[in-house]
Amino acid sequence: MCFSSCGLPEKLVHNLEAAGYVMPTPVQMQVIPASLSNRSLLVSAETGSGKTASFLVPIIAHCSRGRLQQCTSKRGPLAIVLAPTRELCIQVEDQAKVLGKGLTFKTALVVGGDPLAQQIYRIENGVELIVGTPGRLIDLLMKHNVDLTDVSAFVLDEVDCLLERGFRDQVMQIFQALSRPQVMMFSATLHSEIEELSNSLSNNMMHITC
Ligand code: AMP
Repeated sequence: MCFSSCGLPEKLVHNLEAAGYVMPTPVQMQVIPASLSNRSLLVSAETGSGKTASFLVPIIAHCSRGRLQQCTSKRGPLAIVLAPTRELCIQVEDQAKVLGKGLTFKTALVVGGDPLAQQIYRIENGVELIVGTPGRLIDLLMKHNVDLTDVSAFVLDEVDCLLERGFRDQVMQIFQALSRPQVMMFSATLHSEIEELSNSLSNNMMHITC
């Protein structure tokens, strides 16, 4: 598999090349085609494996096509990435901006420590992807500052850390505000609590180990 053989938008393939991503990493070779065919995934992958691009590439492809098909002027997010820390969210959003450059793909970072008003302003102006920590996204949800009805992809990055930090209930609360999205879970380690969470989010989860 190579990036140009996956039916990705030309601009996205160009952005991957410009970022120096010539060949997909092993995790990308498995995750990108499975995600493009809308499978929900539980992926065992370490930091450094290229896992971030493995979920961003299909999301950017879906989002840029999804918007073209939408007739409404409403631009609520189409995808959410939840991560355990502000730093990881910043890294994911940075990579999303690089790979989504020149496409219909705007992002919002939703993390504690930044002014809420700025995050609300950005979302109200229309975004395709929200990258955030669970607590801040729930704040926005409770205050009706974000409409999640069109979200079709829900990513949990570093699930093991999300659970260690006690975010399980908040993850479930956000999931319950969505309408049956594709779920992609990434974790360095897999244990029973992660399996249990994955079963609560999808009854047809494909397991990928690299
Ligand atoms: P990650 O595991 O997502 O934290 O990625 C680790 C590093 O690998 C990041 O610096 C990425 O920019 C880089 N990377 C991801 N995919 C590729 C690829 N296909 N080719 C070269 N570098 C990559």
